[in-house]
Amino acid sequence: MKLVRLIANLGYGSRKQVAAMFREGRVTLADGEVLYADDAVAPADVRIDGEPLDPPPGLSLMLHKPTGYTCSTRDAGRLVYDLLPERYRLRSPLLSTVGRLDRDTSGLLLLTDDGGLLHRIISPRAQVAKVYEADLAEDLRGDEAALFASGTLLLESETTPLAPARLEVLAPRRARLTVFEGRYHQVRRMFAATGNHVVALHRAAVGGLALDDLEAGAWRALDAAAIARVF
Ligand code: URA
Repeated sequence: MKLVRLIANLGYGSRKQVAAMFREGRVTLADGEVLYADDAVAPADVRIDGEPLDPPPGLSLMLHKPTGYTCSTRDAGRLVYDLLPERYRLRSPLLSTVGRLDRDTSGLLLLTDDGGLLHRIISPRAQVAKVYEADLAEDLRGDEAALFASGTLLLESETTPLAPARLEVLAPRRARLTVFEGRYHQVRRMFAATGNHVVALHRAAVGGLALDDLEAGAWRALDAAAIARVF
């Protein structure tokens, strides 16, 4: 791919704007040698204003989403994209969230520009475990684990029962719930079906990939080994 197009696709500007950056001498090699728009150079060797290029397509990352941010590219409030470098919102292919977390949910959110990977993770066939920690308004009744594991729970306005899910009771009003699907507001609706109410929800892991020490609002790029832990 021509450098101008590659740089434009990374969100640095339109092709016209990127062509102007070449003319202004802002696109160089690491030693400062000025590049021309039709030079054939490996992207890793390119600098813009002295800085290495953003990661090329094939970018996947994990974000510790704080509460109060929406998984949308356009919304009136704060967006998860506000927590990433500004250009990441303009990249092509688009950096999409892998599924969504509610605005009031915190925790591990994956983003990728690899459409095949995205579909592999969210496909029901993949059975990727999503691990949530929920704080509840009421004490657990005691029968939730059996109900969630039964594969018979039907959420309001749905016609297919939920697949079996695993509940661990951590405290009278706190539980860890592992689900293998990604239905709309699934965890909140599961507890609502038992007469309870989720007051705080956090996703701790997706498959074998956990948040670990990543602080709220922080993100890190994922290499192939980290992505493999999802499955
Ligand atoms: N289930 C929910 O109810 N909300 C989320 O954000 C994720 C799973």
